[in-house]
Amino acid sequence: MHYTLSPITKITLDGREFFVKRDETIDPYLSGNKYRKLYTLLETPKNSFTKIISYGGTQSNAMLALAAICKSKEWEFVYYTKTISTIIKAQEYGNYYEALSLGMQIVELEYDLYKEYISGLRLDLDEKTLLIDQGGADTRAKKGLEVLAEELREQFKAQELSSMKAIATPSGTGTTALYLALSLPEYIIYTTPCIGNVEYLKEQMQALHTIPKNLIILEPKKKYHFAKLYDEFFDVYERLHESGIEFDLLYAPSMWLSLLENTQESILYIHSGGLSGNRSMLERYKRKN
Ligand SMILES: *Cc1c(COP(=O)(O)O)cnc(C)c1O
Repeated sequence: MHYTLSPITKITLDGREFFVKRDETIDPYLSGNKYRKLYTLLETPKNSFTKIISYGGTQSNAMLALAAICKSKEWEFVYYTKTISTIIKAQEYGNYYEALSLGMQIVELEYDLYKEYISGLRLDLDEKTLLIDQGGADTRAKKGLEVLAEELREQFKAQELSSMKAIATPSGTGTTALYLALSLPEYIIYTTPCIGNVEYLKEQMQALHTIPKNLIILEPKKKYHFAKLYDEFFDVYERLHESGIEFDLLYAPSMWLSLLENTQESILYIHSGGLSGNRSMLERYKRKN
C-alpha cells in the first residue's frame, strides 16, 4: 500500500463553507479512520503474527479493513459475528462479500452465546495470534491518529487554513475522536455518538483514556438508532454529494446535522471513509421510498 498524504478540499453546505480531510481516498478497502486506527498493524512486520481474530457487525468497515491487511500480510483472519441474514449472504457486493473474497473466515455465533464466547476469545490466544477488539477500539490506534495529527499541523500552515480551530469526526467506539483530541490539544474536536447515547460513548472512551477537555461531544437532537434509515440522513447525504463529496450513510449524516445545528465557526471535517457500505444502504433507501 503506497500512501501519500490525503488532500484537504472545500465544500459549501447550507451556505456555509467547510473543509474536508479526504481520508476516504487512501484505499478502497482500508480507508478513512480504519487506516488511521490500524496504522500500527500495517507497520507490523509480517512474521509477528500468523493470525488475527476480531468480532462485531457483519457489514463492519473495520472488518473489511482487517481483511485487507491480513491478505497483504498473509495472515489468517477469523471474524466472529452473530447469525448472518440470508439477504446479506446472497449479496454479491458490500463489506461482507468483499471481506470473504479477501480470505476472511467467518464464524457465526448464536445470539445467546455471542457475548460469552467473545469474552472467552482472549483467554486462549497463542503468541502468534492477535485479537483486535470490535471496531479497532484498541490502544494501538493511538499512533495512527498521531500521524494524522502531524499531517494536519503541516496542512494547517496553508494561508486558507491557518485560522482553523475546530475539527469534526463522528463516533462509533469513539477511538478516533479520542486519540485525535489527545494528539491535537490546541484544537477543538467535535464528535457525536452514532452508536448508543452520549453516556455510552463516554464509557467506551474512558476505557481507553481519560477524556480531554478539548473533546466536545454533541448530543443528537433526536434519538437515532444505528443503521436505521432516516429521511434527514439521506437528505444531508444528497446535499453533500451535490456539493462534491460522497460520505457514508451510517455515521456522517448525524455528525453533519449536529454541526449545522450547533456550530458557527470554521470546521475541518475528517472524512472517515465507509463508502464501501453505501451501495447496500442506498438499496435500502430506494426500497423504502
Ligand atoms: C468506523 C467508523 C466510524 C467510527 O469510528 P470510531 O473510531 O469507532 O469512533 C465513523 N465513521 C465511519 C465512516 C467509520 O467507518
